[in-house]
Parts: sequence; C-alpha cells; structure tokens
Amino acid sequence: MSDDKVKCNDVFFFNDLVDVITDLRNYLVSQNFLGLDYYGPINNSLWLPPQMPVIMDESKKIHEARYSKAILLERLRKRIGDCQKCRLSETRINLVFGEGNPGADIVFVGEGPGREEDIQGRPFVGAAGGLLDNMIRAMGLERKDVYIGNIIKCRPPGNRNPADDEISACFPYLEEQLAIISPKVICALGKFAAQTLLNTKVPISRLRGRVHSYTPSVSTGERISIPVVSTYHPAYLLRNPGQKKVVWDDLKVVMELAGIVKKRR
Ligand code: SF4
Repeated sequence: MSDDKVKCNDVFFFNDLVDVITDLRNYLVSQNFLGLDYYGPINNSLWLPPQMPVIMDESKKIHEARYSKAILLERLRKRIGDCQKCRLSETRINLVFGEGNPGADIVFVGEGPGREEDIQGRPFVGAAGGLLDNMIRAMGLERKDVYIGNIIKCRPPGNRNPADDEISACFPYLEEQLAIISPKVICALGKFAAQTLLNTKVPISRLRGRVHSYTPSVSTGERISIPVVSTYHPAYLLRNPGQKKVVWDDLKVVMELAGIVKKRR
C-alpha cells in the first residue's frame, strides 16, 4: 500500500472518530437540556474534538455545521453572559434565558420573569407556570417536550410592564433562540409576547382566534416564517378562569399546527 493511501485512510479514520466524539457530545448536551443531568457537567475543553493540523481545515467546517441546536443555544447563553444592555440588569437576581427542548416543535413565549422566576432563574415556575404546565399536559405533552422563553429575560421591578426600550434591547436574544430552534409554531402568551412577535399594537383580544405569522429577522435556513397563535397569559387566566375554554381553543390550533395528536391517557 502506498504511503499516500495509508495517509488517506488515517485521515478518514480520524474524521470518523471526530464524528463519533462530536455526536456523543451533542447527544449528552441535548440530554442535559432535556433535564437528564446525571451525566454531570459537560466541560467543553474535555469534549472538543482533538485538532489535526492542516487536515482538519475542511472537515472542521462540516463539524461546525453539525453542531446541535443545544450547543448553539448554549453558545448564545454564554454570549449573553451577565448582560447589562438595559436597566433591568441593575435589579434582577437572575437572568432567565429560557429552557426546554432545543428541537421543540412548539415554543411558548411569555412576557418576562416574575418574582419566582427571578429567584430561580427559570421561566414560568410560579403560579402562572403551574397553570402553563397544566395547559401543556392537557395537550398530551410534558414541559420537557416544548421550549419556554420570554420577550425579556430580566424581571421588571415590582412586576411592572416592560418598557419599549427594554423590549427593544432584549428581543433580539429571543429572535436568535427562535432562529436556532426553528419550531413549527409559536404560542404567544399575553399581550406583550403577541404584540412584540407580530410587531403590532393590536389588542390581544383581537390577535387571538387567528393564526398570524412571525418572520425571523435572523436567518434560520429552515423556515421563512413561523405560525404564531396568540392566547391569554396564564397569569390572566388565574384571575379570569372563565377564559380557560377560549385558551383551550387556541391550544388546539397550536396542536394542529404542530401536528400533534393528543396522547390518550
Ligand atoms: S432584560 Fe435583556 S437586555 Fe435587559 S439586561 Fe436583561 S438580558 Fe440584557
């Protein structure tokens, strides 16, 4: 066998090995995002494939393209870091990035973190979060099946409404998340989520009941536009339980757009 052929086989073997390492890392990161953290923390420096000088130049681009959505979200989270882009950074306890399945068909978008979310650093974990969990279960899904985020990532003091400049500062982060996840449908929870995603000031009562469309400003390479179903915020539902039927009608549209057949219990 010529030296060239041996070298070529070595390169293929090395690239296969890198594929396996990268796929395994992606799988573990995905599992981590799905809440299965028994693998322990994943240290990037330990899991990055070894570099082969010169030969890796081309294949490196391929491996970059194969990075999973979980890794892209992880990178975005790191880039956001300890964001100070708006005044909400001065009063927050935790920045609430969002959580769930990076490959979700459905993304729920709320307004912003409340007190409990601020304390825990997770979206929708207070009383309204409990109701959202019930809504998701009613759809035959679990919380880990969907992705949940907010228009703004830091709590406005006293749970006041987010200001326009705060939304303008923060919304691009959510847009990047949506571009990475590229869901089949977005469910906008409440006025601020619906009006921001749809770039309108039309009241939520008139936005709901129809399927609208969100056009990503960040290229996804997957979808030109994403259907948006707007409905009432779970916090509003807690105060107005009589509207649950209306919200359920909206969730049925979400299920239809996501291609979900409700599981029998
Ligand atoms: S609300 Fe958004 S833009 Fe403002 S500080 Fe928090 S993460 Fe940054």
